[in-house]
Amino acid sequence: MPIKVLDKETVDQIAAGEVVERPASVVKELVENAIDAGSTQIGVEIRGGGIQSIKVTDNGVGIPSGEVELAFQRHATSKISSPKDLLNIGSLGFRGEALPSIAAVADVELITYAGGEKSGTCISLEGGVVTQKKGQSRTPGTTITVRNLFKRVPARLKFLKSVSTESSHIANVASQYALAYPEVGFSLAVDGKETLKTSGKGNLLDAIIDVYGVATASKMMSVDSTQQSWTAVRGNLDIHVMGMVGVPELGRAGRGYLSFFVNRRWVTSRTLAYAVEEAYSGLLMTGRHPVAVVNIALPPDEVDVNIHPAKSEVKFHNEGEVFRAVQRAVRQSLTSQMPVRQVEEVAAPYKATPSYQLEQLWGTATDSAKATPKRAESPSTLISTLPVLRVVGQVMNAYIVAEGPDGLYLIDQHAAHERVRYDRVRRQREAKKPEVQGLLEPATFEVTPRQDAIMKSCLEQLSDFGFGAESFGDRTYLVRTVPAIAAGDDWSLMFKELLDALAGEERSKWEERITASIACHGAIKSGQVLSEEEMQSLVRQLEQTDNPHTCPHGRPTIIKLNAAQLEREFGR
Ligand code: ADP
Ligand code: MG
Repeated sequence: MPIKVLDKETVDQIAAGEVVERPASVVKELVENAIDAGSTQIGVEIRGGGIQSIKVTDNGVGIPSGEVELAFQRHATSKISSPKDLLNIGSLGFRGEALPSIAAVADVELITYAGGEKSGTCISLEGGVVTQKKGQSRTPGTTITVRNLFKRVPARLKFLKSVSTESSHIANVASQYALAYPEVGFSLAVDGKETLKTSGKGNLLDAIIDVYGVATASKMMSVDSTQQSWTAVRGNLDIHVMGMVGVPELGRAGRGYLSFFVNRRWVTSRTLAYAVEEAYSGLLMTGRHPVAVVNIALPPDEVDVNIHPAKSEVKFHNEGEVFRAVQRAVRQSLTSQMPVRQVEEVAAPYKATPSYQLEQLWGTATDSAKATPKRAESPSTLISTLPVLRVVGQVMNAYIVAEGPDGLYLIDQHAAHERVRYDRVRRQREAKKPEVQGLLEPATFEVTPRQDAIMKSCLEQLSDFGFGAESFGDRTYLVRTVPAIAAGDDWSLMFKELLDALAGEERSKWEERITASIACHGAIKSGQVLSEEEMQSLVRQLEQTDNPHTCPHGRPTIIKLNAAQLEREFGR
């Protein structure tokens, strides 16, 4: 093919692909525009995961009638005017790409009023082309509605996840901006139901309460580098680190509760995540990640925001200093505000009480108070895919050493118990007879906007596992029953983490994921000392599972050294 310049439509679609990855990217761009316009109230309404429609309403400065078409032209912006402005960006937008990109892949209607004019303007575009423009009255501000996203880009449409997953990504975007701008009142309605509303009172703690709930917020400590002694001795850079961080026991399974804002721009950054995690070193259990909302303010010429079309990554000119500033500020707030006793408790290796261990091992007791350990069935009556094993002992508080008919077996105690529990949960699920534990009093279960999007669509599925919950108003559910196998544990945390995990999964994998979560959560940990009886019981139960050789995640539960191998190794 000869070389030729691409036509406008193709160029627009290519460019749009970088800015608009999924519905949540549209919400991000529109919310950023509303913030740049100085809004104090921003409302987001979405339908059908944002694919059907996204509507963002603000009370900002609006767009003058004569500039409305320009706003949809590529590289048209009111925010910068020369290359030197790029070194000193004070707004969230500056590339002039969002509106044209969105208009290239969806139908758009914009109603705006800048004040001081006769009336506001309503403009409609399809496929990036203006189809209508007329006067329309409106109070100052802008309402933009985006419909039929990716209608003309079927490849993208196919790549999107389920409606609830897309809704949860959008809820996350709204939540992050609510945390970044406590002085702005945000609201989010998903399919007509309000799932987030912040007061806009201007206080970070209030925003955290609105987004994560009171229980989490009450376990957050403030970080303010201007109040800390090291500011006097830090380098030449003027870096301020402010925000709130959670006590270690709030630790979550993923990094989804780490929020970073650089000069009030929401960014993802490995460096910053490491800096915060470093500050928690020795305080969090392995595999747990902190809850933190961290604002970093530094001179605009110290950070390059123009490295990514979606502007979600930044480059620090002096990364080392920023890392140290964040790490020190967070560490200092942890050590100064946290009661020492807690530090020790959390830092100590995990060790459950003996009665708890027994309950976990013998486990399907529906009334934990009365549960008494009973002996495992006689191994001879079992159909087993593992030979009968004789437990020899435990090594490194993590592995069980056992002898079988033709060699030595090493069993990973955590993986093995996970397999046992997994099979039990799956069998109950298949038989549609989950063993449930009724709660003496229904417990309230509060979720974040992001989790709520998922919760709504998996309520029924969860009830098949014995988690009986019903909607109870604002992002709150009333829980009456929980799966018996998870009852003794912190089931509430487990289900919240499960909701976070489901957000990133195909719907078809949800069942598998729920089973694995319930199985994993209460399983014996590595590092836990087991008694002879407990080891025996675990090995017997493992023998009975359908697939004793791997844990639900596919890692091996058991390693065998057969007699021949041993003889070879010893040169006999
Ligand atoms: P950028 O934000 O990078 O300037 P956009 O394509 O997002 O580019 O927006 C183009 C222009 O349209 C902005 O520079 C701004 O002048 C105007 N604009 C967009 N959204 C709004 C809004 N909600 N309120 C006021 N002006 C807006
Ligand atoms: Mg913009």
